[in-house]
Amino acid sequence: MEPNTTTIALGLQKVRARIESIAGKAGRRPETITLLAASKTNPAECLREAFAAGQTIFGENYLQEALMKIEALRDLPIEWHFIGPIQSNKTKRISENFAWVHSVDRKKIADRLSKDRPESLPPLQVCLQVNVSGEDSKSGVAPEDVSDLAAYIVKLPHLKLRGVMAIPELTKATALQRSQFRMLREAYDQLKREGHDLDTISMGMSEDLDIAIEEGATTVRVGTAIFGPRRYPIPEELAAQQRNFDKETPG
Ligand SMILES: *Cc1c(COP(=O)(O)O)cnc(C)c1O
Repeated sequence: MEPNTTTIALGLQKVRARIESIAGKAGRRPETITLLAASKTNPAECLREAFAAGQTIFGENYLQEALMKIEALRDLPIEWHFIGPIQSNKTKRISENFAWVHSVDRKKIADRLSKDRPESLPPLQVCLQVNVSGEDSKSGVAPEDVSDLAAYIVKLPHLKLRGVMAIPELTKATALQRSQFRMLREAYDQLKREGHDLDTISMGMSEDLDIAIEEGATTVRVGTAIFGPRRYPIPEELAAQQRNFDKETPG
């Protein structure tokens, strides 16, 4: 049997139906909500399957894993989004291979992504990742520093600021989650008031996409609900490749 063939198409159908239903109830048009398939740990064949079922936007977290899939799926017109934490020695290959980056959270990374963006490509589309939970362990710029970072990024020649992104605290407390989505929405509104031309609020995953859409998400990033449980741990072979790649790519 093909890996997860029918399951993935079915997963996509269900997620699309869910988005439509929640959007409808929230008085929003479903077509204003973009579905990004968060495909980390799923092999290229699974992405191909999702593509065959109409999914064209994929988000990846681990560079080396992503590059192998991008290579394997060259024949498909996929729009690749980078959604994972960014180390500064990875910016070149991110800039060369992705259309979007959702996880820009500091000036140094923004600088390097812009500098490394090939002239032959359109500007790299970026979102600021905002730390809405206040957890030290989380990536993201603090809400009070968002304006400053945005003002910096819009001056960079090869980046186009599109909006904001967040990964709220994983919790069953929906009121807390809602307040964190709202915080991201407020950061977005604030940037708009400051004159930035934005259209993207990237928030909501398999577990919390309902609340995210109610609170204004324009892009939801869904993995498990499409592909099934993640294939952790990443196979040892892949981890070893990543270590070699890290060694060969000085900072
Ligand atoms: C994995 C991941 C997702 C998707 O999470 P699911 O719970 O599997 O839907 C979304 N955003 C980011 C940044 C991720 O790393």
